[in-house]
Amino acid sequence: MLGADSFVCSACIQNKAVSEDLFHGRSAGRCDFDTAHGTRYPVILIDEAAQIFDEAFRSEYCLGGQEFAGLDSRDKPFMTQRGEPLVICVQDFMECDDQVANALIEHAPDDGVYDGEPPFYDQCSNYEMIVDAYEREQAEAEDWLDWTHREPHPFFSFGLDVRDTRERIQAMEIEDPFLCRLLFIHQVGALEKFLHETFRTLIDIDEAAKHRFVSSTDKLNGKSIRLAEVMTDPDIVETRINAHLHSMSFHHLPLVDRMFTNAFGFSIFPDADGDIERFKRIIDMRHDCVHRNGHNKATGELHVIFRKQLSDHTADIERLGTHVHECARAHQGSIESGTPLDLADVF
Ligand SMILES: [Zn+2]
Repeated sequence: MLGADSFVCSACIQNKAVSEDLFHGRSAGRCDFDTAHGTRYPVILIDEAAQIFDEAFRSEYCLGGQEFAGLDSRDKPFMTQRGEPLVICVQDFMECDDQVANALIEHAPDDGVYDGEPPFYDQCSNYEMIVDAYEREQAEAEDWLDWTHREPHPFFSFGLDVRDTRERIQAMEIEDPFLCRLLFIHQVGALEKFLHETFRTLIDIDEAAKHRFVSSTDKLNGKSIRLAEVMTDPDIVETRINAHLHSMSFHHLPLVDRMFTNAFGFSIFPDADGDIERFKRIIDMRHDCVHRNGHNKATGELHVIFRKQLSDHTADIERLGTHVHECARAHQGSIESGTPLDLADVF
């Protein structure tokens, strides 16, 4: 390595912008880095050149960011550093050879080190252009936004609702029947939404099931459509199906059960014997809570829901949802190649 008192000439450094700063007004002299350059070109002390280089380089390069590189043999993710080794970056930036690049790195003032900062110049690290890092971060942020705006899987949303209700029950330090009643209504609502979305998802990927659904539904199959309507809306069948599904109450579980059974051949109830009665009580109670402020339709009595009861109902709702999700996955797997989405560990 050449010392701090060696000279570098303008022929050694081709970056025009930095060269201008380095060699403007300098006299020609002997180049210590390449004897072939002789004494024709303006020269500068490498130590002085390194100060100017330092400022220019730091304004355009930064340490390479970490990126996911894969899984190791124990399935742990491992990261690598983006970018290129320091000496390569300096050669690219200054348009010089590795000898000049190494000398510039060696003599660059790493002032922060005296204040306890890690050195900026590290021959073992990678560096990248700040503009590249910035553009990548922007692109990643857009990807993330795009991802977060996607519709979540129906079972995933349902799972989060169940988990949320459980956490709220656990967090309740004293009995709070009013809050329990609200959580109960919310939980049945989450089940309805899940059943609706699951049904919709399955008939969208299974034309035969959609056909069975339409032909077994009087409100759809019993309707005649005029030719003029078809000419106005060529997708009138889809439009009618959508309108029908949106007009339905998915908490009418016996009806929903018939829909699933007719279209896909499975019942929504995990236990055909006990569940119809059990869920009828849940649905009736939800109806009283939503429409009669919690008072029983026949007796006028108020449903007082305690933590234990809410917890039991939530477990039943979760059991039904999980059963429907598993049947839906199996059905999806039977008509599509590839592995269906598994979100069973949401709970
Ligand atoms: Zn030279």
